[in-house]
Amino acid sequence: MKNIDWKSLTFGYVKTNYNVRCYYRDGKWGTLEISSSEDIPMHIAATCLHYGQAAFEGLKAYRGKDNKVRLFRWEENWKRLQLSAETVLMQPVPRDIFEQACRLVVQLNQEFIPPYGTGGSLYLRPLLVGSGARVGVHPADEYLFAIFAVPVGPYFKEGFKPVKMQIVKDYDRAAPLGTGHAKVGGNYAASLRAGERAHDEGFSVTLFADAKTKQFIDEAGPANFFGIRNNTYITPDSHSILQSITNMSLRQIAEELGLKVERRQVRIDELDTFEEVGACGTAAVISPVGSIQDRETGILFQYSKNGEAGEWSKKLYNYLVGVQYGEIPDKFGWCTELPCE
Ligand SMILES: *Cc1c(COP(=O)(O)O)cnc(C)c1O
Repeated sequence: MKNIDWKSLTFGYVKTNYNVRCYYRDGKWGTLEISSSEDIPMHIAATCLHYGQAAFEGLKAYRGKDNKVRLFRWEENWKRLQLSAETVLMQPVPRDIFEQACRLVVQLNQEFIPPYGTGGSLYLRPLLVGSGARVGVHPADEYLFAIFAVPVGPYFKEGFKPVKMQIVKDYDRAAPLGTGHAKVGGNYAASLRAGERAHDEGFSVTLFADAKTKQFIDEAGPANFFGIRNNTYITPDSHSILQSITNMSLRQIAEELGLKVERRQVRIDELDTFEEVGACGTAAVISPVGSIQDRETGILFQYSKNGEAGEWSKKLYNYLVGVQYGEIPDKFGWCTELPCE
């Protein structure tokens, strides 16, 4: 085990031992390579640099209560990478290459998996990019698939506390028939300005309205939205939302805990009716939202009166995190145990 101050780790880059890489060239995927370099040699005309052929994923390996290492729902990340590849015309990564790459990168960096009890995990960042050269606008004929791993700390250093959210209507992260449903870099580029401005204005999360009518909730910059009311977990459905695996899991847990689940268009003026609101994604699992301000109208929706997260949000969070750390039986079969020391 590395000598790291695990509890003060943030969600940031840390140099680890190895990353893994695989190239698609001459019409076929090559063998998985291990590299200790943090650099990728890249053709200056690679399509990922010019035309946005770039997708990524994010998933975590957790050291559990029983000291076993569990990778959470990797197959869903693989499926989503397929969708992203199809969306921007990249060569899809075969399932076995994705699985072997995940297993290998965890095994090679196992001394960086934070110990149980620190609230940390090993974050895997798969990426798929067009590495072949083009000058005209066409998909590349060569692709690089790689995964690096970084240890990340507990997301909430001061505990599970509500954050402030801002509704943005003067920028769009994704067009109605665009690439919002795919985990591609371009969506993030499009969300940066709104995100930085929100930070400057004192908010930690942005919530995008649907691009066409601005009447409905799409999602937060890098996380899905949910609201809870009348024992019902409600989350928006739209083509421009990235289907969060955390959200999929929370919907199942919600039903398990006795909530009804609705996945449908959610109007912004419904925000008034929610008892609890949260943003969800792999990084934080749930960010409980204490208040939401509509930047355009100034209207403020308040959820947390005492600075605490809501009861359902806590229950959902504790259940999912409990499964990830092997404290709660994995009855849905979400975790893959990996052979680690
Ligand atoms: C990655 C991502 C999420 C969260 O998805 P998870 O699978 O739960 O990590 C939500 N929204 C966007 C736009 C994302 O890119």
